[in-house]
Parts: sequence; structure tokens; C-alpha cells
Amino acid sequence: MTISRRTLLTTASAALLLPAVARAQGQEQGQGQEQPQPAILFQNVRLFDGISGALRPASLLVRGDKIAEVSDGAIIPPDGARVIDGGNRVLMPGLIDAHWHMVFAPNTMENMVAADTGLMYAYAVAEAERTLMRGFTTIRDTGGPTFGLKQAIDADGIPGPRVFPSGALVSQTAGHGDFGAAYERPVSLGGRTSRYEDIGAFAIANGVPEVEAAVRLQFKRGASQCKIAMGGGVISDSDPIDTLQYTPDEITAAVNVARDWGTYICAHVYTDEGIRRAVDNGVMSIEHGHIASPETLARMAEKGVWLSIQPFEAGDNPLTPEQMAKAEPTSHWDKVAAAARDAGTRVAFGTDLLFSPDTTDLQSDLFVRFGQVFGNAGTLMIGTSGNADLMQMSGERNPYKDAALGVLKPGAWADMLLVDGDPTQDLAVLTDHGRNLAMIMKNGKLYKDTLPA
Ligand SMILES: [Zn+2]
Repeated sequence: MTISRRTLLTTASAALLLPAVARAQGQEQGQGQEQPQPAILFQNVRLFDGISGALRPASLLVRGDKIAEVSDGAIIPPDGARVIDGGNRVLMPGLIDAHWHMVFAPNTMENMVAADTGLMYAYAVAEAERTLMRGFTTIRDTGGPTFGLKQAIDADGIPGPRVFPSGALVSQTAGHGDFGAAYERPVSLGGRTSRYEDIGAFAIANGVPEVEAAVRLQFKRGASQCKIAMGGGVISDSDPIDTLQYTPDEITAAVNVARDWGTYICAHVYTDEGIRRAVDNGVMSIEHGHIASPETLARMAEKGVWLSIQPFEAGDNPLTPEQMAKAEPTSHWDKVAAAARDAGTRVAFGTDLLFSPDTTDLQSDLFVRFGQVFGNAGTLMIGTSGNADLMQMSGERNPYKDAALGVLKPGAWADMLLVDGDPTQDLAVLTDHGRNLAMIMKNGKLYKDTLPA
């Protein structure tokens, strides 16, 4: 017998809940659709389409939330359209950060554990707008309590990027997501949940049934993919970098749950042995991977596993001396990224700024750093259509699966930046986003508009 979810939810409160869940999962695109805005025509722009590295003169027409037409010649403006003279500026897809933490980035750890949760979310709301104003129109959130933020952004209640949420980072006891004190008793040994678990930042799960339950819970809440911690981390206290976390059985359990939900597992892991264990058990996106050997990178290429790497430099995240010592073996991002490129491994760009409200603007600087290995056009392609390919792996759980991201072509979501200066010649124009991003559009709506109407 099949009992539909709707049949089961009979009380008034449950009926109220249902649309909220639908919105959290991105099934409603928001208020913008209720009042169709006039079409917007960009003329006299040089187009970076996200796929070809070269610029070309073009016109581009936006209708509603999508791109209607792209032409090398002129497009006749539809009745009532706003016509924007791009003044030969560069029109490019909005950027995608494949490893961002909407809540962790703009909050200190003290805010997370010792303050009113309102403070934590207030900072996250403010940061969501700043993220969009840096030109990032989509982020994959690789851990944190972001479902409500995503819901508010998608409904256009607050400005911010599109969000591919992972929900809580799933970690074993003494894993990268276990921030409990050593002499606090964990839940699986009869103790209480930590504040981090209570707010949905981390989920501590040991053994196959707990891992399955923790991963399923993230999908229940609207995760587009789920992240597990599979090795030591820099900012966590109880897990040396060399530690292996989660047994093959536990990893396989998480991977099978994700597959049943039509999506994938990504894993926090630095070491070569940890990465191999992840790859051999079905993980599809390695977060960090800074100590991967060329052989392991080749194996990732063979299996279509992504390297989601961050171009860290000392000082990006505020670290204690102990954390700096842990970070040392992970500090050669450029060598690993170049080896991955040479091995044919798909490389995603991500930033992973954490617990550092004063330095979230480094998001743009880190993007520019990627140019040291991938060149300007190569970096722009990774940060747009390349990262969009990684987002596609969320399959049925992709909240924005109705159209393409990261490209400027007919039918794609209208997410784009109008840039003063030419980032294919000088990526650094993107770091001075306040001055050089003349327009920022997401979902067909202009969130920044400095040109005359
Ligand atoms: Zn992270």
C-alpha cells in the first residue's frame, strides 16, 4: 500500500509545513515570477560565455529568469524592454564557489557556540549579500545550518547567491566535525548532543545505522549533496591530519543513501590514503585533497571523481600555532592542482574561509590565485561552467535543475556579471568588485545596477 506524504500530513500545522519544505528544496523560485519584469537587452558587450576562453562581441536578451537569446549581431529590443548599452564591457556568467560556508565564514567560533543563534544568522544574512556583491551568484555550501537561508534567498526575501546546501557535516566521534571537548561524553556513549549538533552544523554518527540516519536527515531537510569527514582537519582539535576517518562500510553506507536520493557524497580529506579510501568506496568529490599523489589523482580522473581544492596561503584563516602546524603539510595547493590538471582530473574552485568575519572578502582573492595554475581564461571557465558541472552531480536534488548554470546561452539561468575591465587579461579586476562589477544579475533580477536606466 502506498501512503502519500500528503495523506499523512493531516493536521493544520503539518499542512503549513509542506510549502516550507518545498521552498527549502528550491521548488519555488520566488516572488520574481509573480510580476513579470520587462525583458532586458544587453548590447555592445564582449561576451565570455563560460565555455569558450575567448571574448566575442555580442548582444544578449534576458526574459524573466532565463537567457532568451544570444547573438553575435544585433537583437531587436522587444516592446518595453530595458536596453543596456554595455559600453564594450565584458558580460560573463556569475561565479560559482564550490566550497563555501555561508554560516561558518562570517562568524567566529564564539558566535557559533556561545551566542544567541540570532547573532549567527544575522551575520550570515549580511554575508550572503556580500557574497553576491562579489559576483558569486551560486555557492555550494559544504557544511552548516543553511537550509533556512537558502529558503529566504530563493524566495527573494533576502539577497544572496543560489545555494547547493550540504547541511550538517557528518563526522565520526573524534573526527573533523567533532568539536566536543575530549571529556564530554558523546551521544553514542550516553551523552548529550553538542551545541554544534543542536544547530545542525555537525552531525556525529558512528557505525552504519547512525551514518545512514545522519545522511538521510540532511536529505530530508533539503540537502543537494551530503558531506562526510574522512580525515584530519586544520581547525578541529581532536583529529591529527594523518588520521583516517570512517571505515569502508560506513563510507559505503553514506554513498548508498546519496545514490538512493539521486545525488552524491563529498568528503573532507587531505591525505593520499584517505583520498584513496574515499575514491574506492564511491565518494565523488574530494574536498581539499592537498596531499594527493599523482597516482591517486590519475585514479580520480579514471573514476570521474572531482578535486575540489582551495588555494590556501598562510594567513587566510586566523589560526593558532597548533593549527598552523597542522596546516603545514596541506600548504602546496599549486603543485597538487597542477598535477591534477596534468592527470586529467576535474578540478573545482572553492574557498573554505572559516570563522573569520573580517576576511570573507578573500573569496575574490583566492579566485584570482587560481590563475597561477590555470591561467586567466582557464580559471574563469573553472569558476563558471566547470563548477556548474560539479553542481550537476546533484541530479534530482539539484534545486536549480530546470536550467543551466555557469554559461551564457539561450535557456540558461540569467545569472551574469557586467565587468569593467577584461578578466581574461587580468583576473584581478574581480577583486575590486565594488568598482569593477557594473551590474550583477541573478535569476533575471539586477541586484547591482550602476548604469543609467
Ligand atoms: Zn570546508
